[in-house]
Amino acid sequence: MEISRRHFLAGTGAAGTGALFASLGIPLRPSAAFAETAQPRRGTITTTICPFCGVGCGQIVEVRDGRVVNIEGDPDHPINEGSVCSKGAALYQVHQNERRLRKIRYRRPGGKDWEDLSWDRAIPMIVERVQKTRDATWVGQRDGLALNHTTGIACLGGAALDTEECYLLAKAMRGLGVIWLEHQARI
Ligand code: SF4
Repeated sequence: MEISRRHFLAGTGAAGTGALFASLGIPLRPSAAFAETAQPRRGTITTTICPFCGVGCGQIVEVRDGRVVNIEGDPDHPINEGSVCSKGAALYQVHQNERRLRKIRYRRPGGKDWEDLSWDRAIPMIVERVQKTRDATWVGQRDGLALNHTTGIACLGGAALDTEECYLLAKAMRGLGVIWLEHQARI
């Protein structure tokens, strides 16, 4: 159907939006029927902040029987007032996603294949390598100045880390003498 400007303005004027859709041959009955049957929220509702970028949009999380069943923009949040971008709209998939890695995957130096590793094996390996690298690259003093840092380890934070996790990570890295500390959102 061809829509003239006059037709559009007439439809959006006194007749209202419903009349416009009707005049365009778009029935609203299915939408109204869906709204009537839509399930009200039945789970526990909490709020959170989208982890993906520095905008910090507010989100509402609904949990039912220990499972996240829905995440959507928080209309009461002053930053986004309910709207989210495509990444924020897909936040639910961070929790419910068959492709999410739940095991440690390890590829040996020079190896081609990935293998599963348990935490019991992985943690001592990480500790050993951190210790070895730190010892080998430790700078205690230079030109009479006490530096006490390692130049052989860097730490890159990810957007999914929240404020508290970033704080703890920064504390741990500073404690190790790591000076190359960066965050993915700044790169
Ligand atoms: S919803 Fe989009 S804009 Fe908002 S914080 Fe998440 S990634 Fe950033």
